[in-house]
Amino acid sequence: MRYLILSDIHSNLEALVKCLKLAEGRYDQVLCLGDLVGYGPDPNAVIERVRPLARIIVRGNHDKACCGLMDPQEFNLLARLAVDWTRGRLTPENFEFLCNLPNGPVSIDGFELVHGSPADEDEYIFDSLEVIRAFSTVASPLVFFGHTHVQGGFLLTANHRFRPIRTSPETDDEPVSLPLDGGARYLINPGSVGQPRDGDWRAGFAIFDAAARRVDYYRTPYNLEITQRKMRQEGLPEPLIRRLEAGH
Ligand code: ZN
Repeated sequence: MRYLILSDIHSNLEALVKCLKLAEGRYDQVLCLGDLVGYGPDPNAVIERVRPLARIIVRGNHDKACCGLMDPQEFNLLARLAVDWTRGRLTPENFEFLCNLPNGPVSIDGFELVHGSPADEDEYIFDSLEVIRAFSTVASPLVFFGHTHVQGGFLLTANHRFRPIRTSPETDDEPVSLPLDGGARYLINPGSVGQPRDGDWRAGFAIFDAAARRVDYYRTPYNLEITQRKMRQEGLPEPLIRRLEAGH
């Protein structure tokens, strides 16, 4: 089974469409780690594209804020403006759909899916304490997470050393492969489809091949100008528009 793992799409339809096109024929199922909406210009179109494709979608903090399950006061001003804008545009059906997304972690086929951390769906996994907390919360050797918008993840070796997984697919559309070692444990971040924050503006995703025990990380350029133009037309904040080209 080959799983296409998408995370942090953030209403960026152009990026999503490009990722799906590149991944075509390379996966059997789609899994989504949340934050379908927030920031970008196409919340309804993104939901309607992912919903029929994905076997499981766990909710993200922006999904929760946009459907009223979380207080947007916890967000910074720009994110809050985007939440308010999104909330005003969601169709009733899509609003309801976001409200009913499951919280993570969700176990499937021997691995876990969560937006933030297995310890707390809203927690960022950036530093060593968060990594340790995440690994100590779940027994599964393989967890897929998002939320940080940083492609890669963390690895805990059989002798209990952990280190970051550095992936930098330099070539557009060509995967960088991570073979999974049977004695190790992994926190895998597929990267953000719609708003990367690792200094690389290209859309990110991953494909997990369960039989081959391998994760392939991808980066692909998409038509950024279309997303930015739509955001300007909708009056979304300029810093949110500019950050897309900077990838932070
Ligand atoms: Zn996000």
